[in-house]
Amino acid sequence: MLRPIYRTCCRRTGIWRPKATRSYASAGSPSFQWQDPLASQNLLTEEELAIAETAERYCQERMAPRVLQAYRDEHYDQKILKEMGELGLLGASIQGYGCAGVSTVAGGLITRAVERVDSGYRSGMSVQSSLVMGGIYEFGTEEQKEKFLPAMAKGRLLGAFGLTEPNHGSDPGSMESIAKPHPTKKGYYSLSGAKTWITNSPIADVLMVWAKLQETGKIRGFLIERKDCPPGTLETPAIKNKNGLRASITGMIQMDDCPVPEANMFPDVEGLRGPFGCLNSARYGISLGVIGALEDCIARARTYALERKQFKGNPLAKYQLVQKKLADAASDAAYGTLASIQVGRLKDEGKATPEMISMVKRQNCDFALRNARVLQEVFGGNAVSDEYGIGRHVANLFVTQTYEGQSDIHSLILGRAITGIQAFV
Ligand SMILES: Cc1cc2nc3c(=O)[nH]c(=O)nc-3n(C[C@H](O)[C@H](O)[C@H](O)COP(=O)(O)OP(=O)(O)OC[C@H]3O[C@@H](n4cnc5c(N)ncnc54)[C@H](O)[C@@H]3O)c2cc1C
Repeated sequence: MLRPIYRTCCRRTGIWRPKATRSYASAGSPSFQWQDPLASQNLLTEEELAIAETAERYCQERMAPRVLQAYRDEHYDQKILKEMGELGLLGASIQGYGCAGVSTVAGGLITRAVERVDSGYRSGMSVQSSLVMGGIYEFGTEEQKEKFLPAMAKGRLLGAFGLTEPNHGSDPGSMESIAKPHPTKKGYYSLSGAKTWITNSPIADVLMVWAKLQETGKIRGFLIERKDCPPGTLETPAIKNKNGLRASITGMIQMDDCPVPEANMFPDVEGLRGPFGCLNSARYGISLGVIGALEDCIARARTYALERKQFKGNPLAKYQLVQKKLADAASDAAYGTLASIQVGRLKDEGKATPEMISMVKRQNCDFALRNARVLQEVFGGNAVSDEYGIGRHVANLFVTQTYEGQSDIHSLILGRAITGIQAFV
């Protein structure tokens, strides 16, 4: 039976302290593990190993069997967030409010386990956990935290994060969504504008929307509760027929004088510091998440190459060009994992900079996509069949490279930090 990860966390409960199930500290000579070439597990605590094990088991036993059909049908099963909530996987690195309070690295290991199955499932979880719950935790009032976080941690309330607009994606500072005092409802703001490409928006109960306050021109964060919106003031149509992330649900947020109580605005945070603060945690999760997708591609390609025979009955795995593809991918996955663990540790010590997170998000997404595309070649014609799973990862990884700052935008962030000159405009 799967135990909720709270039970894993000795820091929280002091009750259950599992032994590490895998150890690399053997008395004999060490052996190379192709699944973890640089022995990253040596850098994890017992608690983190146990959390990763819980997450991997849930994902492989409960999620993986659903993904092929979900992807075909472009269907997102909302029950997944409830199941994750029961295991304590949502908002896991938040302290208190019904959350597990695990390390940043442990949170990343959860995203890796989920994305090993599908980036769409990880996206649905990241929006809930990092962008919305993380944002409320970082910028919300005590009242907002008490109101939303425990229910979101259980997956009973679903969240969406609305920053991107139809005319402003990489440049959210130019957003057109506007908030002004409501003309008839005292103590309310009125929000108008449109957000697009918003994960979870068609099913979300709480929509964290960033809009410019008309009085100041400054960006502020608002929590729109769907149940309180009068008809015609909030629409969240789904965007159908995607060719990536089909196992997640994506839509728009259309606001037409949508009334939002003043108590649902974040009190202090102004400007892009708000949305970028939320994105920092989510981008960290993506950096380890995409490694999970890449590792799944490696495992699938390795199995296929060992089984498929061409030329004199030799397995494809015998050929040097195929071996190089596997060696490149395994090396990039191993380096990416170590880099993310390092940044996660620094984050918990308060020493991580946004540029470090840009670096691991960009590098790991780029490498995961590039290697997945190359490994796809190993499957020959069968790569075209969705039964082999590789094409799904490739299509998904294009999206992970695009959202939460397209890779070239992260290059500009890093370039600015390296040269002191900004090249955005
Ligand atoms: C499936 C999916 C889910 C998403 N979920 C969310 C969500 O939940 N919430 C949310 O707010 N957004 C979400 N997004 C939106 C995503 O974050 C944006 O698509 C992304 O930020 C890029 O913006 P854009 O699509 O407008 O591209 P554009 O900004 O138009 O960029 C197009 C291309 O031009 C390049 N470019 C732009 N400016 C420059 C420049 N100055 N110099 C060099 N190159 C430049 C970009 O790098 C990119 O390659 C999602 C997107 C997808 C596809």
